[in-house]
Amino acid sequence: MTRPVIRHVPDHVEGAITVRSPAKINLHLGVGARRADGYHALTTVYHAVGLYDDLVVTPAEQWKLTLTAAGHVDTDQVPGGDDNIVARAAALFAERAPERVRGRSANVHITKEIPVAGGMAGGSADAAAALVALDRLWGLHTSDEDLVALAGELGSDVPFALFGGTALGTGRGEVVDPVPDEGPWWWVVVPSEEGLSTPEVYAHFDRLSPDAPAEPAYPTELLAALAARDAVRLGAALRNDLQEAACDLRPELGDVIAAGEAAGAVRGILSGSGPTCVFLCTSGDHARDVAATLAADHPVVLVANGPVAGTHLLEYA
Ligand code: ATP
Repeated sequence: MTRPVIRHVPDHVEGAITVRSPAKINLHLGVGARRADGYHALTTVYHAVGLYDDLVVTPAEQWKLTLTAAGHVDTDQVPGGDDNIVARAAALFAERAPERVRGRSANVHITKEIPVAGGMAGGSADAAAALVALDRLWGLHTSDEDLVALAGELGSDVPFALFGGTALGTGRGEVVDPVPDEGPWWWVVVPSEEGLSTPEVYAHFDRLSPDAPAEPAYPTELLAALAARDAVRLGAALRNDLQEAACDLRPELGDVIAAGEAAGAVRGILSGSGPTCVFLCTSGDHARDVAATLAADHPVVLVANGPVAGTHLLEYA
């Protein structure tokens, strides 16, 4: 298998470890019919962009999870207890390696920059960071292959957070294969003040697309545009099959996309299940110009480039 970047993290650390994970956008989100197991078949192109959540994980007698966040992040929506995906990652280790996890705990602090329920996989980023940090802190020596498998159990987008870069996602999104990308690409990111529930968007997709194909659309032209480093071609090839459903639930999202394109972006598209909208630009300066125009009407406008690295070590003691 292709190895994610996590090999750069030492196998075992004794003190605090700080691990960083990126947000993702979907350059292509081909959605197929709902499968028998309730998931939708996906063919997606994930792209890691430079918005990050950081986890500081420290040995402790008792489990404790704390959170601080950038001003644009709505922390009220992040569960603090066992429902937090970081706690679920810890519980998964305890279930799979009870002998080695028994008696171990951790103090976890999340610093969030990725919008919550924004379609940028912030929870998945935290889960990936937690898997790597807790594995190292608890000396579990989980293989990369097993970490990727555990990631896939925690959520469809979690394996990609480990890999980062740009990658094709298949299955329900959990099967990740890196693809050639001659970027960097520049993006303006417009989060929404109110999150959008991913299951709700999929349910609406099902209502709007009862005849969705079993096999989702394949991104042939988009992959060629990435390899050719052609922003106009890439813009034309961006595709998100959930956009119609999300914009139907939240009609103002169509206005945001139109505003970004009117401000000069090559193309605007919904990120994942939304409501964050992202706009492809031709350079950092171009992105800052588009962002400045959009900032007149939108309280939060960010600029990020991609592809960036997946889950990686910032420091350890
Ligand atoms: P995706 O694009 O993977 O569907 P998203 O970006 O739309 O995800 P997330 O920010 O990952 O959404 O959060 C989805 C929900 O997960 C939140 O509404 C929240 O209730 C729950 N959640 C659990 N743990 C976390 C976490 N650590 N950070 C954010 N949300 C979390």
